[in-house]
Formats: sequence, C-alpha cells, structure tokens
Amino acid sequence: GIKSVDEGYFGSYSSFGIHREMLGDKVRTEAYRDALLGNPSLMNGATVLDVGCGTGILSLFAAKAGASRVIAVDGSAKMVSVATQVAKNNGFLYDGSVEMEQKQDTQVISVVHTKAEELNHKIQVPSNKFDVLVSEWMGYCLLYESMLSSVLYARDHFLKPGGAILPDTATIFGAGFGKGGTSLPFWENVYGFDMSCIGKEVTGNSARFPVVDILASEDIVTETAVLHEKPVNLSTSPFSTPTHWSQTIFTFEEPIAMAKEESAIGSSASVGTEECPAVTIRSRISIVRASEHRSIDISIETMGT
Ligand code: SAH
Repeated sequence: GIKSVDEGYFGSYSSFGIHREMLGDKVRTEAYRDALLGNPSLMNGATVLDVGCGTGILSLFAAKAGASRVIAVDGSAKMVSVATQVAKNNGFLYDGSVEMEQKQDTQVISVVHTKAEELNHKIQVPSNKFDVLVSEWMGYCLLYESMLSSVLYARDHFLKPGGAILPDTATIFGAGFGKGGTSLPFWENVYGFDMSCIGKEVTGNSARFPVVDILASEDIVTETAVLHEKPVNLSTSPFSTPTHWSQTIFTFEEPIAMAKEESAIGSSASVGTEECPAVTIRSRISIVRASEHRSIDISIETMGT
C-alpha cells in the first residue's frame, strides 16, 4: 500500500550515496545555486519553503541569499537530522530559544520531519504563507518518482499568491538515436564485446523498460522535438554536460533504416537515398503516474514513419 511505498521511497533517500551523487552533479547544484544567489531582489528577506531538503543544500543557499526564514521539510527522518546538524554547524539553524533581537540574521533555517503534504499538521504555516518555494523534485525522464505532485500540493497550499516557485518550468525533449555512433549503452559494447544480453536481463525487456544512460550528441540522428512546455537552463540534453539524470532511452523492437548523410542533426537537406529514404517518425508519448507506487507508465504510440 501507499504507506510502505513511502517507507521504501524515503528509505532510499536515507543513505548518503544518492545525496553525494546529487551534490556532485555540478550542472544540477550550480543551477540551483545560481538561481538562489543570483536573484537578490527575490530572496532578500523572503520566507522560503524547501520541499524535500535532503542535506539541506537548497535551504543553505536560500539562507546565504538573505532569506528571513527557511522551512526545510523532508520525509526521511535521517535526512532531517542530518540537515539540522549541517545547518547548525554552518551557523544557519534557527534557534527558537534566542530572543528575536539577539538572533544572528543568518540563523533562519528550521528543518521539519514531514511529508510536504502534511506540513500544516506539523507546524503553524505562517498565515501569509511563503514567498518562495524551492524544490529539486525531478526524476529520470523528468517525472519518475512522482514527486512533482507533492510540490504542486505545496504550491497550491503554502505558496503566497504571486509567490515564486523554483524551478517554474520544465521541458521534455524527444529525439531519435542511432546505433552507428560511439555511445552505445554500456552493455552493448564492453571493451569491444557485445554484452547486450546482460543489459536485456538487467532492464527486463528493453522495449518495455527504457534504459537510463548517457548518450553522445553524435548519436542523435533526428531533429529534436519538444514534448512539453518551455525551455529551462538546467539541461539534461546529450548536447550538454551529462548529469546524474542521464538520458532515458526507448528502443524500437526493429531498427529503422535512415539515410546517413542527411540524418545528422543540423544538416539542411533531409533528402534520403533510394535504399534509405529520409524518414519522419511521428509518435505520441503519454506519461502517467502509476497509481500505487512511484513509477510512471510511459506509452509511445508511433503513427508511422
Ligand atoms: N533538496 C536536496 C535533495 C533532493 S532529493 C538537494 O537538492 O540535494 C529529494 C528529497 O525530497 C529526498 O530527500 C526525499 O526524501 C524528499 N521528498 C520527496 N518527496 C517528499 C515529500 N512528499 N515530502 C517531503 N520530502 C519529500
């Protein structure tokens, strides 16, 4: 049921490896740092809600940026105690026992053990709510983990009208990748040997379960299509520096032949040859939250080439 799903989910965030990976992802963490520290007019004196604080890194950036109060929440008890200790050791922990006037103005962070959805059962949410909501909720293929719904709940219940949410847009792009290039997924070329049978076993049926792996930009053989919404500047594209999100790769059961020259991205013509006509692949992708757990059901309907 939902309860044990949550236990497993928050348990997975209670060990340090995943936090080390996220903090070590510079593209990710610096994008948040720049957004928080590069917008003083937004952050100065602001009240901030950090949804899913983990180690507390985003709350620390917010406090450093001049927030007047930061409430950091996490569903993992372990990370709440860790974030509390880190905030304290860096001089940012709110200390309720000190008179307001004597408080150092950096001591603004409180860490609360709760699911974001239950925050108002745990603390008195200020009646004027929060000026800024910050969260790093994105999963593989953007929506894996289904944390977005928690952030939207927090936005709808705890963000002041007209308040800011960081990030405020996200985009899913789709493109075709070819197997002729250099960056086959790991198991397909292990020191020159084809170990894709292992990859198949690891991922189950590779046509049913997408592979999360880093692609080389040379292997993208089609134009890129925007699947949803507008661009943001934290990019997980194979044309940008890789991040811990990698790319999510869906394979066709049968490969589709493409013209070599004209298929490369950026080429002006899209004329095929006789053996290998230029192709356009039209498909519709739908991503639906799985009802009882945190995975997502993705269906790709291809309307023909
Ligand atoms: N903000 C940190 C951690 C991001 S990982 C950073 O940027 O490094 C996401 C965190 O959100 C995890 O620690 C997870 O336990 C927490 N989380 C996920 N869903 C949540 C929810 N509904 N309520 C509270 N915390 C949640």
